[in-house]
Amino acid sequence: LADVAMYQAKAQGRDSAHFYTPELNQRAQQRALIETQLRHAVQAQELSLHYQPRMAVDASGERCVSGVSGMEALLRWHSPVLGQVGPDRFVPIAEETGLIVEIGNWVIETACAQIAAWRAAGVPGLAASAAPPLCVSINLSAVQLGAPDLIERLRVSLHRHAIPAGQLEIEITESTLMDRVDTHLRTLHAIRALGVRLAIDDFGTGYSSLNYLNRFPIDLLKIDRSFVRDMLDDPRDLAIVKAIIGLGHTLDLRVVAEGVEGELEAQALRAAGCDELQGYHYARPMPAEALADWLGASADLSLREPAAG
Ligand code: C2E
Ligand code: MG
Ligand code: MG
Ligand code: MG
Repeated sequence: LADVAMYQAKAQGRDSAHFYTPELNQRAQQRALIETQLRHAVQAQELSLHYQPRMAVDASGERCVSGVSGMEALLRWHSPVLGQVGPDRFVPIAEETGLIVEIGNWVIETACAQIAAWRAAGVPGLAASAAPPLCVSINLSAVQLGAPDLIERLRVSLHRHAIPAGQLEIEITESTLMDRVDTHLRTLHAIRALGVRLAIDDFGTGYSSLNYLNRFPIDLLKIDRSFVRDMLDDPRDLAIVKAIIGLGHTLDLRVVAEGVEGELEAQALRAAGCDELQGYHYARPMPAEALADWLGASADLSLREPAAG
């Protein structure tokens, strides 16, 4: 563990005199423990995917949500040693150690298998007969984008499970894309050529060049949660949200807000012309079986809300 702390201190360019604090030592221990446990998490079947619905805003100008437009697959890890560990804690470690490639491949294959199962079971919106069927998005990290066999993996998983490529969407964060743009551009075009849709995640937190944004073969922007969270209190955040929606529409992209927790935010976002809303206000991420039930219930219930005044 001292080695880990030493390595970290070096990696961060810190003066080695400063790092033997109990706090840093504890962090290094935690990190080392997560890394060790993560190494066999895929094999031991400790990972799962939860799915969070995304709602479409009614296009008729009624300014209500008209139904489910898709869902996002989110990694969950239950370790017998560490308990439940959130992706914000283990994904960065998986990226640093390269483990994210194996984990990410598992995500691609598992999401495709799940879509196929839902299609076969005739889950509302996902049944093979639904037109157009709901889209399932998965998150991809920078390390995966650089993996030489990514495109082949996607092609094989889609084919094996007989899924129309348009039913899969890939989310890549803005900061990932803007780092090594030219390399990524080729990969993005190859993904898009498969027919898989592309979204930029956490938009507004990176430093997009508008010039590149225009060249990326993307379908959708997801406004970062931090702007949505603060938009009711801070007029500058509201202005940013509106600017992102305007920019997205100018470029012919759909715009999704993530982290929508309350009806007031939802109203403001609908009034601003946001196309889709995702957040605890509508549904939390849930296991696949729960999502199928939820979709069944929401197909019966009216999801309409009063129009924003
Ligand atoms: P993300 O892709 O931006 O996902 C959105 C995160 O916001 C999720 O956290 C989701 O549970 C959370 N969220 C959704 N609605 C609300 C809301 O109304 N309020 C609040 N406070 N939070 C909300 P989660 O599941 O903990 O994932 C965190 C991040 O971990 C993701 O951010 C993504 O960057 C990464 N991640 C998750 N699954 C994967 C994966 O399969 N592969 C990769 N590479 N990264 C993943
Ligand atoms: Mg995402
Ligand atoms: Mg996000
Ligand atoms: Mg994020």
